[in-house]
Amino acid sequence: MSEAPHLTFDVNMPGMSTGHLVVPEGADCEALSLPVFSLNKGEGPRLLITGGCHGNELEGPIVARRLVDWLPEAQTCGRVIIVPVLNPPAVQAWSRNTPVDGLNLNRMFPGRADGSVTERIADAISRLLLPMADTIFDLHSFGPKWDFPPASVTHPIADADLMAQTVRMAEAFKFPMTLVWEYHDTPGMFDILAQSQGKVFICAELGGGTVGSEALAIYESGVRNALIALGLVEGKVEHPTFRQQKSSQTLETLPSDELKSPAPGIFEPRCSVLDEVKHGDLIGILHPMDWLSASSIEIRAPIASIVCGIRSGAHVDVNEEVALLARPLVRQSCRAGRHALDDSLDRG
Ligand SMILES: [Zn+2]
Repeated sequence: MSEAPHLTFDVNMPGMSTGHLVVPEGADCEALSLPVFSLNKGEGPRLLITGGCHGNELEGPIVARRLVDWLPEAQTCGRVIIVPVLNPPAVQAWSRNTPVDGLNLNRMFPGRADGSVTERIADAISRLLLPMADTIFDLHSFGPKWDFPPASVTHPIADADLMAQTVRMAEAFKFPMTLVWEYHDTPGMFDILAQSQGKVFICAELGGGTVGSEALAIYESGVRNALIALGLVEGKVEHPTFRQQKSSQTLETLPSDELKSPAPGIFEPRCSVLDEVKHGDLIGILHPMDWLSASSIEIRAPIASIVCGIRSGAHVDVNEEVALLARPLVRQSCRAGRHALDDSLDRG
């Protein structure tokens, strides 16, 4: 390896500056230069905004790029660092994982300096950018196989104060859905590393995977709402309209809320995201395609729930997720880390 990861400019300079985060070359790939924007207006919150962690989720890089255009006029204090594309090889290939080594950047943190290219990207971000922020907005979308409402997402956090702070920040986006998502495949996530350092980390998710102007407008206004809540910009909070609705709700989902396909075939959704379903309501139908004589299989809600994600495309394998259900977040839940979220929580 010829050099250590580094920034090509001093982000501590007052005012606006731009440059690159250099991820050194390795045996598998030449050095990468990730464009970085910094706007330093002195005392105040320190925010890092990242996009393009997964290469087939392009709303994030677009919204990050738009922020670079209007933030210099709007930001009144603090420091914002923006990296629109964390994983350039994946974005260029429109692929979730890095094509060079096949790895998922969001499972590689804190990375390795002597690892493959995805591990080197994670290492450079962990060492050089993460220490510069107290709050992180990581802009994702749900990918091309799902319908999912614009949402700010976090996971249960053992530290009750950090959990309360994180949910409050997530709700400040005013997205149609704030989701506390409990699942097991978390080692190596950017969230987990940042939260272990006491930082507030919000993952923004937009469904669909097809870039459209309506979703982008919701995404951008959500990020703007969060910047207002942090006190970095002034302005009026907007409640975006999503499919004729102007409401937002805070939900939680558990591993048992993932509905899986009982067989390989084509999944036909029979409900939409944010629909309320009762026990036994039809969620969708699985059509096996090997034999036309095989019966189609109904997939029904196991309990009263709200549909927060539904498979909208592609053939599914047996045991692959086809729907994700949720319920309103129980703020007095005694599960670890949730007891601070009582009903007196300021939701503004
Ligand atoms: Zn993603």
